[in-house]
Amino acid sequence: MAFKPADNIQDLQYFGEFGGVNPSISDSSTYTFLSAKTMFDTFEGNADGCYLYSRHSTPSNLYLGKALAAMEGTETANVAASGMGAITPAILQLCKAGDHVVSSRTIYGGTYAFLKNFAPRLNIETAFVDITNLEQVESSITKNTKIIYCETVSNPLLEIADIEALSKIAKKHNLQLLVDNTFSPLSLSPAEMGADVVLHSLTKFINGSSDTMGGVTCGTQDFINSLRSVIDGANMLLGPAMDSLRAASILKNLRTLHIRIKQHSENALYLAEKFEADGLKTVYPGLKSHSGHELFKKMMNKEYGFGGMLTIDVGGIDKANELMELMQERNLGYLAVSLGFYKTLFSAPGSSTSSEIPEEEQKEMGLSDGLIRFSIGLDNDIARTYKMMRECMVEVGVL
Ligand SMILES: *Cc1c(COP(=O)(O)O)cnc(C)c1O
Repeated sequence: MAFKPADNIQDLQYFGEFGGVNPSISDSSTYTFLSAKTMFDTFEGNADGCYLYSRHSTPSNLYLGKALAAMEGTETANVAASGMGAITPAILQLCKAGDHVVSSRTIYGGTYAFLKNFAPRLNIETAFVDITNLEQVESSITKNTKIIYCETVSNPLLEIADIEALSKIAKKHNLQLLVDNTFSPLSLSPAEMGADVVLHSLTKFINGSSDTMGGVTCGTQDFINSLRSVIDGANMLLGPAMDSLRAASILKNLRTLHIRIKQHSENALYLAEKFEADGLKTVYPGLKSHSGHELFKKMMNKEYGFGGMLTIDVGGIDKANELMELMQERNLGYLAVSLGFYKTLFSAPGSSTSSEIPEEEQKEMGLSDGLIRFSIGLDNDIARTYKMMRECMVEVGVL
């Protein structure tokens, strides 16, 4: 039977303590215990349903985590203060000094910088690979490798990872497969295809209103317990805890995610087809010309489409900047990093979100400086948007 992520979220039922249709927000950093013995047990990790201190967990954070676990089909989840606040503790929980990571080379710039520049300080080394080349992935595994790391749809090149095949490789070598699913919530469900841990920046599509940061780690109860351990849990001890007020507001936005994703996908597909027909170098997983198109189609939860992210290459950074400034002037979107907003956002990754990646390596992975990344908005009349964008393109001379 097909996996139904949005239905899984909808099937959860929450009430506030006074019968409110939204759960009450836990506006407390610490919690009382009726008996001292229970406090001791909670520290030992064996008092279910008791709250200790809000860096560990809060009712509001658990509600949000439960909904996100339902969405990804994992046993449970732990929310964090940002995407990086979920990603880096998950990696550090699984890797100690001397361990090794095999990672896709086209990943979010911050994750790349963490693995490339920060983790080596802790003697954790990473082999960066072309994640679509499964032989290269497998041959990069060493006796010290602990995890394979990738994004389902990569940032910014929109490469598609074959999660089932990667999971087979991970299982064969006794590794954990960690997948960042920020670009494709609802459309793709990595845990259903064998990923061990699914990560998200909630800052993007899931919250969808560009007003807060957040992150989540979805996985087994054992793994999430280990992250929260007061003895050696990376989330508990490094402290990237989400605030309850934020958790409550993200949970409310999550309720409309399925409607938003369908609209983002519909609009992005419309524009991608038009741009490509106009002769622009366009990358969108929903286009037949995309090398990962068939793979995406095989993996996707059909009703949500191919997502809201697309790129075009206008040949050089000057043209890219000129076009983005003009589109912003005409109010077609904002020249801003991030994604998943109601309004279209565009940026040139080579000089912004991926500038952590040295120019040489950018070239090698196919990240050219004329690349513009679009997060397509929820425009009601996308045909009108296209006409206006086309006018801008003609004016700056890329069409
Ligand atoms: C934004 C982003 C992150 C980091 O999330 P923050 O919430 O900014 O910390 C990680 N992965 C991907 C794919 C992202 O787009």
